[in-house]
Amino acid sequence: MKIISLPCSFDNYSYLLICEETGIAAVVDPAEYYPISCAVADAGVSLRAILCTHHHADHIGGLDDLLEEFSGVDVYGHAGDKRRIHGLNSPVAEGATVQIGRNMGRVLYTPGHTAGSICYLFGEELFTGDTLFGAGCGRLFEGTPKQMHDALDTIAHSLPPATRIHFGHEYTAHNLKFAHFVEPGNAAVAARQELVDRQRTAGQPTTPSTLADEAATNPFLRCREQGIVDTVAQRFFGEDLDPLSVFTALRRLRDVF
Ligand code: ZN
Ligand code: FE
Repeated sequence: MKIISLPCSFDNYSYLLICEETGIAAVVDPAEYYPISCAVADAGVSLRAILCTHHHADHIGGLDDLLEEFSGVDVYGHAGDKRRIHGLNSPVAEGATVQIGRNMGRVLYTPGHTAGSICYLFGEELFTGDTLFGAGCGRLFEGTPKQMHDALDTIAHSLPPATRIHFGHEYTAHNLKFAHFVEPGNAAVAARQELVDRQRTAGQPTTPSTLADEAATNPFLRCREQGIVDTVAQRFFGEDLDPLSVFTALRRLRDVF
């Protein structure tokens, strides 16, 4: 499967997924109409499906116009978001399969950012929307810290380290500043900051990363690391220091960083 990342709106990413054997394509998160329509035309593919990770306007801004241009497209999203994603005609939940040409994908239910947040896994390509970012995770708009912590834990521990993480926003540089702030001794964070600086200076996206990159640098996947536990202990004196409490404290710190 070929994957093209499409910068949309201010700092969103949509993704065009192409089955090269059949020319059948899908879009993950139709953030904006024009760049997606152009990419489909440029690639000369047949758009058959739109995969929504969640209902937020910045991720579905191009949906109505795309449905007008491409009739008969399957629109996937979590079943609970039927009223919040206009045109959703293929409601899914944990474990559902999604077929794009010859490629079989699987839905992971990952609530936390919103109640209906899902990720799509095709082979070793994971599309995470606003659940898992480069060096960060989404804000908790509708879910509890436990839901998000569990969702990230499942991703981190059930998928191979080589899994590529295709995320929904270009937040990586700022996320790494926060990662450095909470774990100043982490050399992998410093190395990734240099890499990301070079990528952004060259106008390149920082997506995709790998699960191994995230395990080494993403504070929200590192709630057991002593450096991070120490930071939380200093900032939140007397608080519990189990992984979920550390995660909750990190998310609170990141909200105001
Ligand atoms: Zn969102
Ligand atoms: Fe978003």
